[in-house]
Amino acid sequence: MSDLCIIAIDGPAASGKSTLGFRLAESLGYLYFDTGLMYRAVTWLTLARGLSAQDEAAVTRLAEDMPIEVTAPSFEDGRSCDIVVDGQDITWKIRQPEVDANVSIVAAYSGVRAALTIQQRRIGLRGRVVMVGRDIGTVVLPEANVKIYLDASAKERARRRYDETLQRGGTADLAEILTKVNERDRIDSTRAIAPLKPAADAVLIDSDKLNADQVFEKALSLCKR
Ligand code: C5P
Repeated sequence: MSDLCIIAIDGPAASGKSTLGFRLAESLGYLYFDTGLMYRAVTWLTLARGLSAQDEAAVTRLAEDMPIEVTAPSFEDGRSCDIVVDGQDITWKIRQPEVDANVSIVAAYSGVRAALTIQQRRIGLRGRVVMVGRDIGTVVLPEANVKIYLDASAKERARRRYDETLQRGGTADLAEILTKVNERDRIDSTRAIAPLKPAADAVLIDSDKLNADQVFEKALSLCKR
């Protein structure tokens, strides 16, 4: 594979993109970059500063000015990286339900997308990268060498989120998770700018009937082709 190889993985919430992306990057010796964490970091900062996610101008200013540090993990607590904003380690804070509930609103703003897409493109164009998100193959890195669109039914994705929450020692309501997953999908796929959709040249993988190992083997063979 060329040194500039770029692998783009897109798909809806909880479709297994992060697990797949992380494993692929590890096995190929590439950088793993999850773009969702940038939208989550802007959302967390918005709420932490007492701003409303509906305040497009204020949220956009934050996205434009926010220095977000993404570094190698300093703890072995399941994280794939450290995310530091405003001097605070927000690696797990960006997974809180308040962030889940507001992130798609923030991610629909054109100014927010413009600010983050520039940074993502700069990182991606260095190559040897597995970049994960909603619009990587369509907007951020349309020149990617391999484009994968990982899908699964909303029911299956909600069930996985539910199991993950229980495994981490939390409590969860499956029906509530399903409602939230559907709502996030709806906003992400109907927004005017960079909506969630497969690139015309993406390979679709439906993980409903495949386990994580089978999805990984299928994706790895596409990368090696
Ligand atoms: O992937 P994750 O669930 O962490 O993404 C959180 C949210 O960030 C998504 O629901 C979507 O609204 C937004 N996002 C996006 N474009 C990306 C990555 C994430 O709009 N490339």
